[in-house]
Amino acid sequence: MPGSPTPNLEAATAALALASSVVGDAARRVAAGGGPDADQVVAYDLAHAAAGVRAAEAALTYGATGADEARIACAFVADALADLAARLVGREEAFGTTPDWMGPARPFVAAHRDPVFLAGLAGTEGDRRLDADFALVRDTFHRFAEEQIRPRAEHIHRANDDIPEEIITGLADMGALGLSIPEEYGGFASGGDSDYLGMVVATEELSWGSLGAGGSLITRPEILSRALVAGGTEEQKQLWLPRLASGEVMNAVAVTEPDFGSDVAAIVTAAARTDGGWLVNGVKTWCTFAARADVLMLLARTDPDRAKAHRGLSLFVVEKPRGEGSGFVFEQDAAADGRRDPGGRMEGRPIDTLGYRGMHSYEIAFDNWFVPDANLVGGEEGVGRGFYFQMAGFENGRLQTAARALGVMQAAYEAATDYAANRVVFGRPVGDYQLTRAKLARMAVLIQVARQFSYEVARLMAKGEGTLEASMLKAYVCRAAEWVTREAMQIHGGMGYAEEFPVSRYFVDARVLSIFEGADETLALKVVARRLVEQAAG
Ligand SMILES: Cc1cc2nc3c(=O)[nH]c(=O)nc-3n(C[C@H](O)[C@H](O)[C@H](O)COP(=O)(O)OP(=O)(O)OC[C@H]3O[C@@H](n4cnc5c(N)ncnc54)[C@H](O)[C@@H]3O)c2cc1C
Repeated sequence: MPGSPTPNLEAATAALALASSVVGDAARRVAAGGGPDADQVVAYDLAHAAAGVRAAEAALTYGATGADEARIACAFVADALADLAARLVGREEAFGTTPDWMGPARPFVAAHRDPVFLAGLAGTEGDRRLDADFALVRDTFHRFAEEQIRPRAEHIHRANDDIPEEIITGLADMGALGLSIPEEYGGFASGGDSDYLGMVVATEELSWGSLGAGGSLITRPEILSRALVAGGTEEQKQLWLPRLASGEVMNAVAVTEPDFGSDVAAIVTAAARTDGGWLVNGVKTWCTFAARADVLMLLARTDPDRAKAHRGLSLFVVEKPRGEGSGFVFEQDAAADGRRDPGGRMEGRPIDTLGYRGMHSYEIAFDNWFVPDANLVGGEEGVGRGFYFQMAGFENGRLQTAARALGVMQAAYEAATDYAANRVVFGRPVGDYQLTRAKLARMAVLIQVARQFSYEVARLMAKGEGTLEASMLKAYVCRAAEWVTREAMQIHGGMGYAEEFPVSRYFVDARVLSIFEGADETLALKVVARRLVEQAAG
């Protein structure tokens, strides 16, 4: 492209080093100032800036693999610096830097944010750099999404319908529900360094088919199986993991309560000891897929002393019958089961949502619901350790949620590219205009780099590392999905707002990604900024 700079990875590396040192200074400044809660605004920006820098590091690694990849990497790094600059303006002191921090990197940023460079990048998506095995995983799940999920996704969304059983059994047959379950327990994780990568690749493709009726179906077994691997007794692993992997048992996750979402450690739903087990009382909310699920992964307070906070919580696998999508009531007949307790009740009310439809989310009231001792995760030794087991599950959930965001972004990008090529405005296809080309280029850059970052985090997690990176990735990619789906909708003009175009679904679906699996602010402040500050304080 005439006038385009030759991508300069050396200059990109130097520019990124500057950004990285600004982030390091900011972390030290926040640490010295009393930690993230003493200045949340700066700490939040620090977390997102650090995530951008970390993503840019993944971009540089990717950039070294080819010419298009180098252009993508340079465009990403330049934008990451521009984003950092926007966060810093007027707050340099709070960040521990000066207004001229970008100085030596300015020519690099100017060259790679140049509209001519960006417009010239349109249509360059970059290779995914998957080896043959994972390319096959991708093809297989892509085909399933194309043939089984996409043709049903619009109807499920617009009619707020249930997910058809064929999708669930299809996924189970493909092994999608046991991707992170160790082979010895009937799953497909071999313990190698690519275990999590298969899950990321499959999740992206299924979410490309549909967020609510595809990629999110595997979130729940991912979370429960990790929690069981982390804390379950051998008997529990033997009993539940193979059944989760095969789809014989489908689960939901019941952690959030009406008064406690981000502040999980404060939940009040109680499980009290009774003969042979526990009686659960309280209300859970936003329990997605609870009607269809056979078991709920339920976090409850087993120590009534609330001062014990997270140390008073235990995790249960709560068995239940399958129910209707429109709501359910189940009752336990204690006497018939040979128990002397009052007999339990569980009532689920669906919560209508903007998007993310198909699985339905429920508020569930538990009234003396009996759970046998055998279903307490970790047995007696698991009492008071439920919070940690649950957290192990959610680490996996964050990586998987980032992969879900990738699928939604890719679907939106493809829809926008198609529409822009065909819609003629002022005598030319919208996709011919510089502004549209630059938008499409930035979308593709963001998606590819987010993807490469998620592959990197998957490899780290397979080595038992990457906890901080998984949180950075989740926070970063879910925000990116909002922008990408917004721009994709915008490129559709008025038709973007029409329900008949799937891009309107991508937009509302993307919006939930920054809310669940760790709300963006909570994740940024309580996990990412906190860890950065701890590291800075040494
Ligand atoms: C569609 C959907 C599906 C869901 N599925 C499930 C599920 O299957 N199982 C389950 O257990 N939960 C589920 N959730 C719940 C989800 O995890 C919670 O909504 C989330 O954790 C946030 O909790 P909250 O809604 O109570 O928000 P709150 O905790 O009330 O937070 C409100 C706002 O305040 C911000 N905030 C919180 N703390 C701070 C702070 N210290 N400083 C500054 N800002 C702060 C938050 O980031 C948020 O923006 C789902 C939610 C949705 C929307």
